[in-house]
Amino acid sequence: MADRPYVIERMISAKSIAARIEDLSRDIAMAYAGTDKLVVVGLLRGSFIFIADLVRELDMPVEVDFIETSSYGNATESSREVRILKDLRGDIEGRDVLVVEDIVDTGHTLAHVLNLLQSRRPRRLRTIALLDKPSRREADVTADWIGFEVPDAFVVGYGIDYAQQGRNLPYIGQVRFDTA
Ligand code: 5GP
Repeated sequence: MADRPYVIERMISAKSIAARIEDLSRDIAMAYAGTDKLVVVGLLRGSFIFIADLVRELDMPVEVDFIETSSYGNATESSREVRILKDLRGDIEGRDVLVVEDIVDTGHTLAHVLNLLQSRRPRRLRTIALLDKPSRREADVTADWIGFEVPDAFVVGYGIDYAQQGRNLPYIGQVRFDTA
């Protein structure tokens, strides 16, 4: 798959992402006003740049933790089976938890993680996704905050990879395969 020739077309600029994160963090700080130490949970690996930028805009006490999932399947199709590769370090019982996801596509990953974390009895569990592809949804899940809605395209950049490449692009782009 990764050997197929492809080009990356810019979709969302670094400037637009930064501006959107500023707006989102203002909303989030308001929603959690008075909360004692929010736990912000990043879904590895795709959310690592998003969570880094987001928490630096949040003017409130936060703890940061990570969970890593993997889905079986090939490079461009997500699958319905979700495995936990790395679990949280901290206890979230009774805590306010904000899960940070890169993209909600079919929604199976987020649904699986939310079920797992809910079983640990947090005080309240909410979610933010940088990108949302609502046209692809299979699981009944919606993020509380969404950065950008995107069409059914394979995206890359700003933490999100294509075959482990492209995570360091400062913008979000669409992968287009060269069919010529
Ligand atoms: P879901 O379980 O919602 O179908 O998929 C969630 C995960 O699939 C995302 O966290 C991401 O890792 C991966 N994914 C979904 N859509 C894309 C995409 O367009 N590009 C890349 N690189 N990964 C995607």
